[in-house]
This record gives sequence, structure tokens and C-alpha cells, in this order.
Amino acid sequence: VEFILGLPKAELHAHLNGCVGMEVLFELADEFVEGIGFEQSSLKRLESFSIDDIGEFFKVFGVIYGLVSTREALGRVTRGVLGGFLGEVGEESESESECTYLELRTTPRRLGSSSAEEYLETVLEEVERYPKEKAGLIVSVDRRMGVATENESEGGITVEEVVNLAIELKKQGRRVVGVDVCGDPRSGDMELLKPFMGKVREVGLGLTVHIAEIPGSVSGDTQHLLSFTPDRIGHGTFLSEKEKEIVLERRIPVEVCLSSNIICKTVPDLASHHIRYYLERDHPIVLCTDDTLPFRTSLTAEYALLLAKSPFGLGLSREEVRRVAEWSLEVRFGGR
Ligand code: 5GP
Repeated sequence: VEFILGLPKAELHAHLNGCVGMEVLFELADEFVEGIGFEQSSLKRLESFSIDDIGEFFKVFGVIYGLVSTREALGRVTRGVLGGFLGEVGEESESESECTYLELRTTPRRLGSSSAEEYLETVLEEVERYPKEKAGLIVSVDRRMGVATENESEGGITVEEVVNLAIELKKQGRRVVGVDVCGDPRSGDMELLKPFMGKVREVGLGLTVHIAEIPGSVSGDTQHLLSFTPDRIGHGTFLSEKEKEIVLERRIPVEVCLSSNIICKTVPDLASHHIRYYLERDHPIVLCTDDTLPFRTSLTAEYALLLAKSPFGLGLSREEVRRVAEWSLEVRFGGR
């Protein structure tokens, strides 16, 4: 563990609401119960969470969103998540923090009467308590969102709105370093997102997309996502041989979340995980947690899987693990 903790490294694929601590959720539930009688039993289920397919996984967030429902709660959980990865502001000790740099990502949503902009402001206030060499924010677009504002019924946040917000905040010098496309891989038409992703690239924001998370995803989906020329891709579990060649050729770094893939059952075991394909080809990968709460993991635990011998891990040498950690810093969007 000392070897892992001592490695300078970046966490680049962590969803804010998927990394909330259980303790803070219980605190929020206690406060909530007094108000409207929140069901503690649904929280208990989060602790012993098991799923049979990735679609079920997305239901977990309903419980979390039910609790993280005010700006105050959002600020509190964000502070906790940042502290968990980086240590408290000003007290970050290299040996105690999980990583030396964090790119946290989150999807803006309305909290009561607060706007998507206020959501991002709240998260950014917490992120910006750390120096820019330590933390940055990736703004996520959810595949389930409507695309353009003019076609949307009132109230729904759209891809257009989120992308414009990310761009505007970057222009104001706020700590937005990139945009992500996430959410249930069975939904949305990725072709429609292309013009918005072009705008993201034009202003120099990094672009990362969740891609090929499920087999035979919506037709043309993966090709559309690759056509956005992303700077990094998330998962890439079911890329075809041809698509993998594109990834290798363009040297697009792959964000790999081992526990997430095993628990969501998109990969049967570590021995058959696609991380091996890229490692064998010396292609940059970034080891990440995805969602520490439902996957009951940490960045240290994910790195331990690299070092552990088969069948518990991949049995990499310390030198190989060090290389993976170096890649994570090389391919970050911000922090320099
Ligand atoms: P948030 O963006 O609310 O801070 O974090 C939770 C959200 O991230 C989820 O509602 C979901 O849209 C997205 N997310 C978390 N984990 C995954 C994942 O493994 N795959 C995809 N496609 N989206 C995810």
C-alpha cells in the first residue's frame, strides 16, 4: 500500500454523486427524515448493493439525488469527495491522499429552485479551494438529456445548455477543464450531439466520452462518439477490432475502471479485461474508480488490482504500475 500511495498519480474518471461517502448520506438522511420522512431502508440497500446488469446500476443514483437535493448538501458532499481523494485543503500529504491530481466530473441538475449554473457554481467553489495543480472539473452531459433548448419542454436541462455553461465558465477563468458524455448507454442519439462537441473542442476544453460500455450498443453510436475526436475515452469495453485500431492509431487514452466493469458484469473477470489489450501495446490507459460508493472501491484498491497476482489481480510489476500512474498525469486535461 505504501508503494501505491507514494506514486504520483491522477484520478480522471470519478463521478461526483457516485463517490459520495456513506456517512454523509446517512447524515443527510437523518436531517431529511425530520422533514419529509425519507425511507432509510432505501439507503441501507446502497450499502449492500448488487446488480445483474448495467441498466439496474443507474437506479442507484435516484436515492443519492433524493438526498443531495439542496445547494448546501451538494457543497457538503463535494467537499467530502474532494477531501477523500486529495486530503483536506492545505493539509494534503502525499502519503495520505489517494492521488496527486483529481479531475472530478458531474452532471448539472436543478436543485429545487436553483439553476444548472448554480449547481456548477456550488461544485466549482469547492474544487477551487484547491490549487489548479490539484483539482479540476469536468462537466458531464447525460445521454438522457434533450439536445437543443428550443425543442425542449420547460424545465429540462439540455445538452446545449450544459455545453454553453461549461464554455462560459471556462471563459470566465473558472476551473472547468473538460466535458464528458455519460449516462445510460442505452439511451440518446449520439449523432445529434456532434455540433455541441465540436464547440467544446474549439474552446480548448478536453473531451472525454463514455463509449462501448454495453455489447451492440445503439446502432452507429460508437462511430458517432469516435467522430467527435475525443481526447480520452471511458470504458471502451465493446469496441470492435476496427474501432480499437482507431483508438490505437490516434493514441486516445482509455479510462479504465476495473471494479466498475466487473460489478456491472460487462467484463466477466480480470483475466479477460480489455486493459490487457492496451497494456500489451504500450497504449496509454488511466486507472480510475468511476463510482467509489456503489463499487465499494478506492483508487488505492484499483491500483492494488494491478499489482495483485492472478486470479485476484493482473500481476503487473512495480515498474509497469509506475508507468500506468505516469500516464494518468500525462493525459490530464488541466492541472498544468
Ligand atoms: P453525477 O454526474 O450526478 O455527479 O454522477 C452520477 C452520474 O454519472 C449518473 O447519474 C450517471 O449518469 C453517470 N455515471 C456514473 N457512473 C457511470 C458509468 O459507469 N457509466 C455511465 N455511462 N455513466 C455513469
